[in-house]
Amino acid sequence: MANGLIKRDVIIIGAGAAGLMCAIEAGKRGRKVSVLDHTKKTGQKIRISGGGNCNFTNINAGPEHYISQNPHFCKSALSRFTPGDFILLLRKHGIGHREKEEGQLFCDEGSGAVLNMIRKECEEAGVEIHLNCRISEISKQKFFKVVTNRGAFFSGSLGIATGGLSYPKLGATGFGHKIAEKFGIKITPLKPALVPLLFNQKDLRSFSELSGVSVKAKVSCNNKEFYGNILFTHKGLSGPAILQISSYWDNGDAVHIDLLPDIDILKALIEKRQSRIEMKNLLALYFPRRFIQKWCEMYIRSKPVCQYSDKELEEIVRCLKNWEIKPAGTEGYSRAEVTLGGVDTDELSSKTMEAKKVPGLYFIGEVVDVTGQLGGYNLQWAWSSGYAAGRYA
Ligand SMILES: Cc1cc2nc3c(=O)[nH]c(=O)nc-3n(C[C@H](O)[C@H](O)[C@H](O)COP(=O)(O)OP(=O)(O)OC[C@H]3O[C@@H](n4cnc5c(N)ncnc54)[C@H](O)[C@@H]3O)c2cc1C
Repeated sequence: MANGLIKRDVIIIGAGAAGLMCAIEAGKRGRKVSVLDHTKKTGQKIRISGGGNCNFTNINAGPEHYISQNPHFCKSALSRFTPGDFILLLRKHGIGHREKEEGQLFCDEGSGAVLNMIRKECEEAGVEIHLNCRISEISKQKFFKVVTNRGAFFSGSLGIATGGLSYPKLGATGFGHKIAEKFGIKITPLKPALVPLLFNQKDLRSFSELSGVSVKAKVSCNNKEFYGNILFTHKGLSGPAILQISSYWDNGDAVHIDLLPDIDILKALIEKRQSRIEMKNLLALYFPRRFIQKWCEMYIRSKPVCQYSDKELEEIVRCLKNWEIKPAGTEGYSRAEVTLGGVDTDELSSKTMEAKKVPGLYFIGEVVDVTGQLGGYNLQWAWSSGYAAGRYA
């Protein structure tokens, strides 16, 4: 497109899930919409989501699965564009889906199908998408003015859908937060979330050799608890249960891990009270052998079960049910699925996502202080908040 003055009804910055959904809805209302993105592709996080299978929503999407300074804020948008609405959209395009555990819905044909569907919807709604579009200035007088390498855009409505700070290699920047600050809009503290945890030096020396081992566990921290796999990496712990708890973990906190949440292990040990089987061999019935050998080396002196006193058995059970680790940190934004915190929800209308102080300015998706748990909740927030703004922008 040649450089020049470009007049639109709605400009949206960020061609991710939230920005594109907002553009579709605004376009359907007959608004002339342009979406600007500085990368060369649309919806890059949609493409990699769910390991390429796009965990596009969760049928349980409700406020209890989101973290925000105002836990009620997300209710309105989630109730007006629901998981069922997204399923209807998939059906309209003949795309199938399947449910995995805990209400997580995945696309049968992979994330590319979802992305193609969104692009098609954009086309039908007359949305223009400008990629490789670098923005140098945003200001507001009567209209918003967005100066870019593709020309200067003017619009009455401006949607900020630039996401969070996670995965900078896919184009994430702090641009949306900076725009909020420029307009005097508060930002809540930001941190990487849904992110692998790093071992402290002592645990790293002991456990890094377990890289690749996975164990089913119940993980808790700060009164939150998640059940699922934990995965040893060469730096620390990952896997669904660890990613979930990472969003509730703060520097210095201990994480407690119940390594046998499904088994009454004390009863099992007492039943073998007279046995000459070595403890590490008995416990290997419940764990990957590599893991339990290391764990026994670290925490107990393995000997035949019949040689333990009751007190010693109770202590082993206590250790297994409450393995405590003190992570040194997280793997940071480069590996975090999302960013916790963002545009303070007090600054926005929960119905329209419009900034209370700046008429015509909308914030949607991950840039807002609404962060979902693992399992399709973040994309649902992007769709719902994008839809809400698209009805009014
Ligand atoms: C590896 C991975 C897997 C995930 N899997 C899932 C999943 O299966 N299910 C789920 O619900 N969630 C998942 N998520 C989270 C989910 O993808 C995001 O929360 C969601 O995509 C956020 O959408 P958004 O539109 O708000 O932001 P984004 O998708 O991040 O889009 C922001 C857009 O803004 C653009 N942008 C940024 N800065 C600028 C700038 N200065 N100028 C112009 N453009 C700019 C970016 O290039 C990007 O295109 C995953 C995340 C990751 C990283």
